[in-house]
Amino acid sequence: MNIPFVDLASQYNSIQSEINGAISNVISETAFIGGKYAGIFEKEFAKYLNINHVVSCANGTDSLELLLKAYNIGNGDEVIVPANSWISTSECISSVGAKVVFVDTHPQSYTIDVSQIEKNITPKTKAIIPVHLYGCPADMDEIMRIASKHELLVIEDCAQAHGAIYKGKIVGTIGHAASFSFYPGKNLGAYGDAGCVTTNDENISFKVRMIANHGSLKKHEHIMEGRNSRMDGIQAAILSAKLPHLKKWTEARIQNAAIYTSFLEKSGLQLPLIPEGYQHVFHLYVVQVNNRLDVQQKLKAAGIETGIHYPTALPLLKAYQHLGHVPSDFPVAFSQMDRVLSLPMYAELTEQQIKFVVDELTKCLN
Ligand SMILES: *Cc1c(COP(=O)(O)O)cnc(C)c1O
Repeated sequence: MNIPFVDLASQYNSIQSEINGAISNVISETAFIGGKYAGIFEKEFAKYLNINHVVSCANGTDSLELLLKAYNIGNGDEVIVPANSWISTSECISSVGAKVVFVDTHPQSYTIDVSQIEKNITPKTKAIIPVHLYGCPADMDEIMRIASKHELLVIEDCAQAHGAIYKGKIVGTIGHAASFSFYPGKNLGAYGDAGCVTTNDENISFKVRMIANHGSLKKHEHIMEGRNSRMDGIQAAILSAKLPHLKKWTEARIQNAAIYTSFLEKSGLQLPLIPEGYQHVFHLYVVQVNNRLDVQQKLKAAGIETGIHYPTALPLLKAYQHLGHVPSDFPVAFSQMDRVLSLPMYAELTEQQIKFVVDELTKCLN
């Protein structure tokens, strides 16, 4: 059996005519940048989240940066982020000239350890960017409580968590604003780069829209300097074609995760935790193993592709060596980075495939 880590082709095959129709409409109308199709998708995604404003942009990294700019976060400011994430979460902070402050990972949930946020707050702290990592919501009640006590902004990084629910609230609607990525491999993915900002704050949505379009909302009227970060019409139309399927795909991911968990329950591996009241949407199904390299090679030999999210905790990347962090600053993130292993996960995965992955993984453990 051959089991890829992600399988975008099988999803495309299931909705081929819808996708092809969407792309051909954009081409025949030459609605290539922003405009009609981006506007339609923004309205549909706003309805899906039940939020007032969605502003489309070029990718998820930009959506974070656009938000920091819209909130006037920059030189002299500090922003708190989790030590384990994709680099975009911290990169956006340096991009606007602010300082990145890392906080260690919670040992079971893999999201930011909320018990360690307050000791990292200084008079310069302006915002917290929690990440709903792997599809598991961060502990938003506690984060919002700390933020309100210290008058900080909360920008949710929802790149891995479309449709995840925290105590009855869908992520992307809990903080002051949120960022989504529609990178092809995400739970809702375009066929190229795309992203968006979500917020109930009209002023912020207005600013983000302006910054993302050269400081302009009307042709040739540039109120300020901005930049170019718009969503392609083709990507927007593809996202509109895919959005009606998201609920079903999310349910399938959750179901597949439950199958993994039931098969692996007695393996002794640390399995993903789903805290009470959370809907984890399993962008990734992550376990922890000893001898990860060996396990990955054996699985590969059996035809199973796996991933690592992430091999190096952000503060220990070369990109952040100027901050002078050492592994003991982030003991949990450091201990997990050599152990985490992401198993194949997508809606189209069959029970038979999951069984095969589990059987081969179990062989590696014995
Ligand atoms: C994918 C991702 C992003 C960035 O998205 P792009 O669209 O690739 O720029 C940001 N944060 C996290 C946690 C991600 O996984």
